[in-house]
Formats: sequence, structure tokens, C-alpha cells
Amino acid sequence: KIPLPRRIFGTQRKNSLGLNLESINTLQILSKKMKVMLSATVVNPEPDDERSQAIYNPADPDDIVGYYWLAKRHDCHHAFDASREAWKTWRFSDVEDRATLLETTAKLYEESYEELILIAMREAGKTLNNALSEVREAVDFLRYYANQARQLFEPTSLPGVTGEENSLHLEGKGPVLCISPWNFPLAIFTGQVSAALAAGNTVIAKPSTFTPLIASKAIELFHKAGFPQQVVQVLTAKAKTVESTILNESALRAVMFTGSSLAARQINRKIAERDGPIIPVIAETGGQNAMIVDSSALTEQVTRDIVQSAFDSAGQRCSALRILFIQEDVKEKTLETLTGYLDTYQLGDPLDWETDIGPVIDAKSCSDLLMHIERFKQQGRVLYQGTIPESKGHFVPPTIIELEDINELYEEVFGPVLHVISFKAEEIDQIIDQINQTGFGLTLGVHSRINQFCETVARRAQVGNIYINRNMIGATVGSQPFGGQDLSGTGPKAGGPHYLLRLANEKTISVNT
Ligand code: GLU
Repeated sequence: KIPLPRRIFGTQRKNSLGLNLESINTLQILSKKMKVMLSATVVNPEPDDERSQAIYNPADPDDIVGYYWLAKRHDCHHAFDASREAWKTWRFSDVEDRATLLETTAKLYEESYEELILIAMREAGKTLNNALSEVREAVDFLRYYANQARQLFEPTSLPGVTGEENSLHLEGKGPVLCISPWNFPLAIFTGQVSAALAAGNTVIAKPSTFTPLIASKAIELFHKAGFPQQVVQVLTAKAKTVESTILNESALRAVMFTGSSLAARQINRKIAERDGPIIPVIAETGGQNAMIVDSSALTEQVTRDIVQSAFDSAGQRCSALRILFIQEDVKEKTLETLTGYLDTYQLGDPLDWETDIGPVIDAKSCSDLLMHIERFKQQGRVLYQGTIPESKGHFVPPTIIELEDINELYEEVFGPVLHVISFKAEEIDQIIDQINQTGFGLTLGVHSRINQFCETVARRAQVGNIYINRNMIGATVGSQPFGGQDLSGTGPKAGGPHYLLRLANEKTISVNT
């Protein structure tokens, strides 16, 4: 009998992929033996053994998932030259052709989903449900941007005086650099690449060096769909190598980036200092996300939504809940239900179907998170700590810490750690001010059965995504465009109607008839 995942954890999307558990189960058994070997990461690389890098499974560092070639400076130059050259013809590509190619890529993703989820599980430590959502979201991005391009890139007639015809045209900008993170190694990677291509640009995609295998597999599928090799390339290089080469190129026309606020600032500085035009940097960065729960909220629902928001993906989402503001009167009852519920969650290797929460990405993240927890433990402020499996994997126990003040958190704690602050009803205005004053503005959750309370919080909060009486993760492409403001990002929102516009040049043509 095939073991079914015990619980559906994370957001289930409509039209979810048909999950063939039987074949996944077979692959699960084979998977530990399977090594993903990628031969080409850039156009015409000159691979040599020295540059071959191993990727280790974060749940089991003895498991080598596969190898990739680390690109060096000359590969970056080579990739950029190819991109600039390809742009000369790609700039005349037809929007309908680009949209069709993206849809073919979406089909190929769906056909390859078993391989993709297995790489996501072993390379990024994703649970089965998270890995499935990852593929689903990537496919959604491909189809959404294909449709957006069709709608937006048709020339528009504009009004004018008699004897004159005016029209507005959107065109690609040129070579675009996409820098994506390891926490959504397929979804965010695909979102960036497909948007830039849909808008008529050529693309150099630099995935995180934690997750080059799934990125390289994805680019293979773009090529199989028919995108020319030079139009979309994957560059598995270190951030520093890319910064010191491609970011200096005067022909670079946009940078799409998801990662830390600090790195976004660095990219912006580099871009500003180089010779060449001022170009858009679309940055999606961190968050210091809160949920406000008042005494009218339904405990059972709140509990489930808190657990999903804070601990799904081992808390390694920009959108994840970090600080729970809970009204004093219901604090104890809610925490009691919450910890009881958390006790039933299992931390472990994602290749074990029983697992609800997987590892964090690497040893450094693991030790940083454990140090953070330890600091509060010494002060007697850890309210709950789960257990971790006996394993060499990078596991951090789900933990709940009590805070007095939001300012006790200096930076984003990117892992399965929830901080709790209690408040009195009359303090709500102050709390919203405090949340706004963190300078971040990504997600916010509100749980209350009082409509006016929800409305007031939603109106006053300076954040990009507000979730009322539900969990606050797993934004759906097209329905919940994702992205924040201030330290959390520049906008426009990914999976939203304005995204492609930032990646295009506008041209008007006025004809005297
Ligand atoms: N879009 C994801 C979500 O809504 C988060 C993306 C990220 O972590 O950057 O949960």
C-alpha cells in the first residue's frame, strides 16, 4: 500500500497537478541513488573537473544530489556577449510566438513534474506538498505571463487630432539579469525568467548556488520548448562573480532580484556606478511579518493558520509569520492549542512521507537559528520547542519565543521560529505603528470577527500583502500578486498585472496621414 502524505500542509492550489503517488513512491526509492548530472550551464562552457561542484541534500549531507559546473568570470562575459548578440534578432520576436513558447514550457514542466519535485525535495529540502506547490506555481507563472504579454503587448491606438494616427507599442529592453533565491528554487526562478522573456528580453538567469540543479533542469525545458539557447541561459556562478562582471555591462537593461535587502542595495549601488543608462532593478526582499489576533478570533482556525504561516517550509519564506501579536485575554488559550497542535507535527527528511517540516538550507543557517533560540532560552523566554530527529541533517526545532517588544528583533529570522507579543485592546494603534516602523512591509495577517477591526488594520498597515482570517503564505499567481514595499521591495508585484510593464520600453508612433 502506498503511504499517503499524512496531512496537507501548505496552501493547496486549485487545479493541482494530478499526483501519481505510485510512481512518486517508486522514484522515492530510486531517488537516493539518482545523481543529477548537468553538463552545460552556460552557452558553450568549457567544463573541467576542478569546477565540478557537488550539491548535498540538506536533510542528509551524505546524500550527494548531483553536480554542476561553477561558472567563472570568463563564462559570465561569454554568457553576456551571447545574450547581447541574441537580442539583435530576438527584439523582433512576435509576442504571440513568445507566449506560445512559454505555454509549451509549462506543458513540459507538467510532464517532468516528478523529476522536478524530487530535485526540489533533495536539493532544497522541500516536503512533498511544498515541492508540488513549487511546480504548480512555476507553471502558473509561465501561463500567467504568456497571457499578460498577449494582452499588454498588442499595439494600442491613442487619440489625436484629425490627420494624425497615434499608437503605443511595448517592446523588450534587452539583456536582463535574473538573480533568484534557493527558497523557491523553481517558482521564483521561473517567475523571473518567464516574465523577462514574455516582455521580449533576453535572459541570463543566476540561481542560488544552493539550488543550481533544479534551475538548470528548468532551463533545459525552456530550450526543449523552443527558446533559443542564447536567448535564455543559466549561469551557475557565485554572486560576487556575477556582480563584478555582468552588473558592469553597459548593455544590461534590467535586473530582477529576490533575496536580502542588503544584497538588493549592493546591486543598486553597482548599477548606479557603472557606465550606461539607469535601468530598473526589481527587488523582492525580506520581511518582518506580523499577524494580529484579537479576542474575537476563532481559536481553532487561528491555530492552524499560525502554524502554517510560521512553520510551513521550515519558516523559509519571505512571507512567513515572524511576530504574532495576540490580545492578552486569549493568549494562554491560543498558545495552549497551538503547542498541542505543533506537537503532532513531524520534523524530518522530506523523503519520508510522514514529514511535515523539513530541514533548513545549510549548516550556517542552522547554527545561526540555533544561536538565536539559545539567546532567548538563557533568558527563559522560550515558550515551546519541538524535537529534532537524530540525523546529520540541518534541522531546527519549531520554536516559540516570547518578546516584549518588536524592536528586540533586529533582522529577519529566516527559519521555523515564531515570536509572540501580547497586547491590550487599547494598544492596537500603537502596534500598527510599530509594525510600520520596522521599515519592512511585506505580509500581514489579521484574525478577528470584527469587520471594522480588520478594515482599520488593513487600511493603516504599510505592507504589500494583507491576509484576513486565513494563513499568510502561498500567494497565488494572478489572484494575490506578491511583493512588498519599503525595505521589502521595489515592486511591481510578481504574478500581478503591472509586472511586465516594468520590463518593457514604451514607444509611441505618430503618423501624419
Ligand atoms: N510567494 C511566496 C509566498 O507567498 C513567498 C516568496 C518568498 O519567500 O520570496 O509564500
